Amino acid sequence: MDSVEEGVFLTFDDGPVPGVTDYVLNELEKRGQKATFFVVGDNVKKHPKLGREILAAGHKIGNHTFNHLNGWKTPVEEYLENVRKCDEILLNELGVSTPLFRPPYGLLKKAQAKSILTSHEIIMWDVLSGDYDLDLSAEKIFEKTSRFSAPGSIVVFHDQEKTREILPKFLPGYLDFVSDKGWKTEVL
Ligand SMILES: [Zn+2]
Repeated sequence: MDSVEEGVFLTFDDGPVPGVTDYVLNELEKRGQKATFFVVGDNVKKHPKLGREILAAGHKIGNHTFNHLNGWKTPVEEYLENVRKCDEILLNELGVSTPLFRPPYGLLKKAQAKSILTSHEIIMWDVLSGDYDLDLSAEKIFEKTSRFSAPGSIVVFHDQEKTREILPKFLPGYLDFVSDKGWKTEVL
């Protein structure tokens, strides 16, 4: 891979959530940027139209379980069933079959990972924005996220209730930062 040409991978977890996901879509659209959304199946079930808007705008969708389960706290078979349930809703409501999976909290038992890897690629991240951390200011989130971002980075944000207030305070600045650096945004 030509590292000079390599862009950054923007990822948004936990949606789709009305008023948050559509805000993110609009900000990406303004700058012609693309992202990958790791969606919660139950949210797709509640807001299928918003899920379809993600795809219609040219972004990618990945599986983030149906109920945002913690792998360490969930029996293996129950966890795998929840992953399948998310795949099912993506296929039925959005018409997509995704090869991408990201475990909520980044937590998986070995047996869960082993089984998921037979059908999905497990995508973690290297830059955590901390946007869900209510103790962090928008300035701090922008500062650390931009400082650690580099070509090839997989950066994680959240489009969920907890980030509804903070996203408008740092995301436009961060997306401008990515544009100003001349980095392309790539989907997984
Ligand atoms: Zn999550």
